[in-house]
Amino acid sequence: MTTAQLAPVQIPSCQMPPVPVFPQRTAEETARLKERIRDLLRQENAVLVAHYYTEAALQELAEESGGCVADSLEMARFGMSHPASTLVVAGVRFMGETSKILNNEKRVLMPDPAATCSMDEHCPAELFVPFCDAHSDHTVVVYANTSAAVKARADWMVTSGIALAVVQHLAAQGKKILWAPDQHLGGYVQRESGADMLLWPGSCVVHTSFDAEALKRMKAEHPEAAVLVHPESSKEVVALADVVGSTTAMIRAAEKMPNPEFIVATEPGIFSKMRQLAPEKRFLSAPSVEQDGFCAWMKMNTLEKVVTVLESGANEIRVAPEVAARARIPIQRMLDFAARAR
Ligand code: SF4
Repeated sequence: MTTAQLAPVQIPSCQMPPVPVFPQRTAEETARLKERIRDLLRQENAVLVAHYYTEAALQELAEESGGCVADSLEMARFGMSHPASTLVVAGVRFMGETSKILNNEKRVLMPDPAATCSMDEHCPAELFVPFCDAHSDHTVVVYANTSAAVKARADWMVTSGIALAVVQHLAAQGKKILWAPDQHLGGYVQRESGADMLLWPGSCVVHTSFDAEALKRMKAEHPEAAVLVHPESSKEVVALADVVGSTTAMIRAAEKMPNPEFIVATEPGIFSKMRQLAPEKRFLSAPSVEQDGFCAWMKMNTLEKVVTVLESGANEIRVAPEVAARARIPIQRMLDFAARAR
């Protein structure tokens, strides 16, 4: 089996800000905000698309108002299939950009333009493009968590749910792969596929904060619990998992597995959907050394900010047409691959 190699590049550091103080609202205030957003969505011919890591009330409202709660790929796909002319994307910036790339004719608004992702920050196009040029014998595969400019230099874009299948497909053709930006997901895919992979040294500050030693102790204290781990975590944490998978795979496991308890190594926002689908089960966060596993950027999305952007039209996502046209190619390649694999 070929081993993975870490690309010899110096990436920018990225510090996650403190998790924002959650707005304190009464049930009546939440209901009033939701009603206001429903009115604005109708008025603006808009639909709300939220990620699993956003606050519970936002996820509920997205579903109640005919929008969707999903992972990044399904968020973009939903936007393509929905007739609304405005998409309100509650997530982080690359999700808004991907929605815009796939829905060029639609207006895409985001509740907070400062909501970024450490993987995206770790992989600036100014460093990535020349690195790809210097390794032109490699097929460039990038994870969804990248800017439009980085996607525009890629041959393929993948999400965590389809990454392994795409890499296996490329490896079967004897291709060498330049993978970015997440070294941990890339390392997991490499171990599973045996592919020849050069890994960009980026990472998720949230998923790498889960602590393997503390998780071992927690497992011992909860012998009936199944451990669900996202492959953006370190290999020591992945090695302790009963199930390793994307957010969608983890939700499916929480629903289907018979265990009464689950220890979950991903952002705790996912518990909203897990509790909705399996209300009789208990979900515990895996121990984390930073901010209890919360992604501060995802938590910048609030009902209040959704009201503001719908009222003002602020925070519209724009992607230069030539970048969008080029970035659409690796995304479409993945969508076509996924359609063939069904
Ligand atoms: S949880 Fe990690 S990968 Fe997801 S948006 Fe936050 S920093 Fe990025």
